[in-house]
Amino acid sequence: MKIMVAVKRVIDYNVKVRGKSDETGVETANVKMSMNPFDEIAIEEGVRLREAGTAEELIAVSIGPQGAQETIRTALAMGADRGIHVASDDDLEPLAVAKLLKALADKENPDLFILGKQAIDDDSSQTGQMLAALLGWSQGTFASKLELDGANTNVTREIDGGLETVRLAMPAVITTDLRLNTPRYASLPNIMKAKKKTIDAMSPADLGVDVTPRLTTLKVVEPSKREAGVIVETVDELLDKLKNEAKVI
Ligand code: AMP
Repeated sequence: MKIMVAVKRVIDYNVKVRGKSDETGVETANVKMSMNPFDEIAIEEGVRLREAGTAEELIAVSIGPQGAQETIRTALAMGADRGIHVASDDDLEPLAVAKLLKALADKENPDLFILGKQAIDDDSSQTGQMLAALLGWSQGTFASKLELDGANTNVTREIDGGLETVRLAMPAVITTDLRLNTPRYASLPNIMKAKKKTIDAMSPADLGVDVTPRLTTLKVVEPSKREAGVIVETVDELLDKLKNEAKVI
């Protein structure tokens, strides 16, 4: 079985994101970038399936500027066998990413495509679903447990009020939720080994995909600053403020 995993390079989740002063987007210059956390979980799941002998090959794919190769190297150090970098400096929308991933799936013929449930920069949560639709494959989104058995996969999903288990026919697209696994740290020897693994580079044009955006971002602004709170002495004072200042009761 062959598995492909999509890994996106995003602003590190520990960094406080700042808007650009011209309101055209968020500041990424000199900002620490990392692999999208849900994609680390996707790679970890793929590596576990390869280690268990369920999969023979695990390919990590990233789409984005040159720096995306660093994210692919991290995936290779975690255990992926090879990487594919689709180079693009454009701001790509989920549909464009899904079309590129479909084109790669058509070339590579994987049995399983694993993505994160959402990228923490755009929070779209669309790419996996669009990819499954474009490929005409089954989809198991927000997976917290995966059980592969031959031509089928059972996916357990966290839904409001409980767990839902769905059975998918392969090939399938899976998107990962937080509790699927705990990703490993890449060890130093594996980071060294990853330097020798192959990353194929190509462009959207090589894959015959038009990535022209369909949406225009009008502006990006930071949330307004919270005003300092006040400590009230009595319940009567609180009620008075809620009634006459905040006017919420
Ligand atoms: P989104 O739909 O943007 O929230 O992204 C969901 C998932 O799609 C991510 O967790 C990644 O697995 C994948 N993805 C989105 N954008 C990219 C990208 N530029 N390169 C690789 N994978 C991506």
